[in-house]
Amino acid sequence: MDIKQIKDWGMNLPTDQPLIIAGPCSAETEEQTLASCRGAAQAGAHVLRAGIWKPRTNPGSFEGIGEEGLPWMQQAKRETGLPVTVEVANAHHVRTALAHGVDVLWIGARTTVNPFAVQEIADALKYHDVPVMVKNPINPDVKLWAGAIKRLYAAGITRIAAIHRGFNTLAQKDVYRNPPHWGLALELKKLIPGIEIIGDPSHTGGKRELLWSISKKGLDIGFSGLMIESHTDPDNAWSDAAQQVTPVDLAHLLDSLLNRDKAPKTDASNELKSWRTEIDLLDKSLINILTQRKEIVEQIAQFKQDNKIPIVQLGRWKEMMRTRMETGQNQGLNDKLVEGIFDAIHQDSVSYQREITTSEPAEA
Ligand code: PEP
Ligand code: MN
Repeated sequence: MDIKQIKDWGMNLPTDQPLIIAGPCSAETEEQTLASCRGAAQAGAHVLRAGIWKPRTNPGSFEGIGEEGLPWMQQAKRETGLPVTVEVANAHHVRTALAHGVDVLWIGARTTVNPFAVQEIADALKYHDVPVMVKNPINPDVKLWAGAIKRLYAAGITRIAAIHRGFNTLAQKDVYRNPPHWGLALELKKLIPGIEIIGDPSHTGGKRELLWSISKKGLDIGFSGLMIESHTDPDNAWSDAAQQVTPVDLAHLLDSLLNRDKAPKTDASNELKSWRTEIDLLDKSLINILTQRKEIVEQIAQFKQDNKIPIVQLGRWKEMMRTRMETGQNQGLNDKLVEGIFDAIHQDSVSYQREITTSEPAEA
């Protein structure tokens, strides 16, 4: 496959720094779209985004302004001189967006999961030469992601990039809106040599506090750019209010991420706040896991009591420690840390089982 690098897409895109795509989640009104796009341009975006057709989970949610919003994007493009991008989910969207001068299209996560829909889009693009960005499917299936890219390529599209927006998995859902899977993004690069990946920290984190740390991680592992949702009045946005940032906050975020601001960092820096928020949420998630574990310990305690099985079994304990240490080692964790944590968890589990059961047979 001969996929064109973003810097060669021919729209004056940066050659030596990450590509920044920014703008509101949705085009809501002409005023909001123009103001948010102007703000994003001022903050340093290279491409302006807005959702025109919005695939929403619940009927009755705002499903996008539709075609009416496309002239607003044309106006934003005229005013700022920047290319614009919108999401397309079917052939009609493709034709309508291209008829309104949209420069780059993107396929959303809910569309990438459906090969029929992706094929319909690819067919509609057959005689057009437009760059297309493909978001990962909502489920963590790298082949489905790669398959969508291959369908576009087969239709003659060569300016293609991928967007990592996180995956709808249960693990870590209480930390991230769509937990990131960095390894899977890197796997895509192996399946589609030459594909560049853009991070979407807005949909990954789902909260503006996490934008910095998720953006940084993506850039650190070699992502070629970022797509960030920005709105002039985020709290009152008609979609994705919690994750959008004002143009001023976007500028600060980009300054610190891209080292445009060389001022010394303080304890209150965005970076530190974002990392700490992520750590707070991860720790909360650890506690939730411990609670789930304790519920199972209760079942085990009852089972042991009913069947006259001793609470502590040395063989099981040794095997547990061995497997946990091995997993920890494989993931680069310090032996002492893993040992200490599981020792404490096990001791607590034993004393909890003793507390909730009345009689215990002698140790095996
Ligand atoms: C969006 O970018 O506004 C969007 C709907 O994203 P996703 O397809 O990642 O949910
Ligand atoms: Mn959104």
